[in-house]
Amino acid sequence: MTRTALEIVSLSKSFGKTEVLCDISLKVAASELVCLIGPSGSGKSTLLRCCNRLEEPSSGDILIGGRNIHHGTARDLRRMRVRTGMVFQGFHLYPHLSVMGNLTLAQRKALGRSRSEAEAKARLMLEKVGLSEKAAAYPSELSGGQQQRVAIARALALDPDIMLFDEPTSALDPELVGSVLAVMADLKAQGMTMLVVTHEMGFAREAADRVVFMDAGVIVEEGTPDAVFGAPKMKRTQDFLQRID
Ligand code: ADP
Ligand code: MG
Repeated sequence: MTRTALEIVSLSKSFGKTEVLCDISLKVAASELVCLIGPSGSGKSTLLRCCNRLEEPSSGDILIGGRNIHHGTARDLRRMRVRTGMVFQGFHLYPHLSVMGNLTLAQRKALGRSRSEAEAKARLMLEKVGLSEKAAAYPSELSGGQQQRVAIARALALDPDIMLFDEPTSALDPELVGSVLAVMADLKAQGMTMLVVTHEMGFAREAADRVVFMDAGVIVEEGTPDAVFGAPKMKRTQDFLQRID
């Protein structure tokens, strides 16, 4: 049986009186790529943010590698954060640090790696995202697509168990989207576990093992890309897919 990398159990989240996630349950198997799609405001980002405790759920549980991330000490929390690599729409690189500086900082602070160890790891990860020659560059000298690939390399350098992507290509000029999606497809091919919020339906269709459609804080439908895109069962899914075509 395949190992479960991430398990979300009956997760609910309210902001004040507004319930934005309502009894969400979802499992992601090791090496699986799950794409989360749905209209703006449906709760996709909040769900992802709960997975590394950038948001506190109102109720429910989240397990990573079988361990509940909502129990334990502050030290456990720091360790757990490192195990989920998060990549956002905006790249969140430190502008005053070089690419190498961006890639080594968290390795040294969160994992206590030595400078040489962190730099060696950073070089490996830069190679993975096709940016070996940019180690000395500053973020402002890079295209948006290159910055996002640096952000991916930075997350990978921490050896996460799962990568969480929140619309990683939405801020990019159309001609730069492909390079980032290609890196993500590569990661998938290498066996990385990934939960990806995306509007790139082509990517979801081609690369995902499973597609989950969310609307108004609930999972409406999930299945293989062929099932969800080719023969959606629910009216809300059909309407959404029609709108974005
Ligand atoms: P999506 O990523 O699918 O667009 P979000 O998870 O960002 O959706 O938002 C879901 C709902 O939660 C929206 O109605 C949004 O306005 C609300 N929301 C998100 N974050 C907060 C917050 N910090 N405080 C209050 N409401 C929030
Ligand atoms: Mg969002």
